[in-house]
Amino acid sequence: MGNKTNSIAIDGPAGAGKSTVAKRVAAELKFACVDSGAIYRTAALYFIEKYGDGAEKAIEDKALLKEELKKFAIDFKVDPALNFTVLLDSVDVSSKIRTQKVSNFVARVASNPEVREKVNERLRSFALKNKVVMDGRDIASCVLPDSRLKVFLTADAKIRARRRYDELVARGEAADLNDILAEVIKRDEMDEKRPVAPLVKTEDALLVDSSNMNAEEVIQHIVKLAKKEFEL
Ligand code: C5P
Repeated sequence: MGNKTNSIAIDGPAGAGKSTVAKRVAAELKFACVDSGAIYRTAALYFIEKYGDGAEKAIEDKALLKEELKKFAIDFKVDPALNFTVLLDSVDVSSKIRTQKVSNFVARVASNPEVREKVNERLRSFALKNKVVMDGRDIASCVLPDSRLKVFLTADAKIRARRRYDELVARGEAADLNDILAEVIKRDEMDEKRPVAPLVKTEDALLVDSSNMNAEEVIQHIVKLAKKEFEL
């Protein structure tokens, strides 16, 4: 058992289905779940709302960024049904963070070490108090390196883009498959190549390639691994 913490880390590239899987795995195991990407999206939203087209320039200005990071509060709630709500200065922004504009900008914001520090503090304090399934890019490598179970969930980029597209269409939103594929590829590249906490599969993480698996198969596979690891 060692010093492992009661957490399950699910990392992987954009659109691999991490959040859906994390939520369902958490429900089956009666754990809480935290979507760390939603927190980075919330930080991105703050800069988009405040600076509009100048958001990119604003986050590149180190002194300004430092001041801005003191000005807003990001928090989250997980209700008993495991619905995850992110709050920007106490306002629920869970829907607002899902726009293409936020998706296109978020990797820039997340590549900043000061932003990551602010987010990580909150994530770790939650994991100290809760059994949690946390999904993101650097959960196993950086946020909760002592997680008892680490999964790297991935799928072919075209399949991930297609799933995102279907999701948006199902919600009645306009979507363009080629634009989504381009965004997914660009975001993967930025997440993998950034110097701070890049997206990486740690050696001790189990690789799950969901290209030829449906969500249910992925969920049951991870639940099985978790039950063994946690002796449930
Ligand atoms: O998971 P999702 O696609 O919503 O994440 C949005 C973005 O947030 C990612 O593309 C990545 O840039 C950033 N992120 C991160 N570290 C995490 C989770 C997300 O850098 N742990």
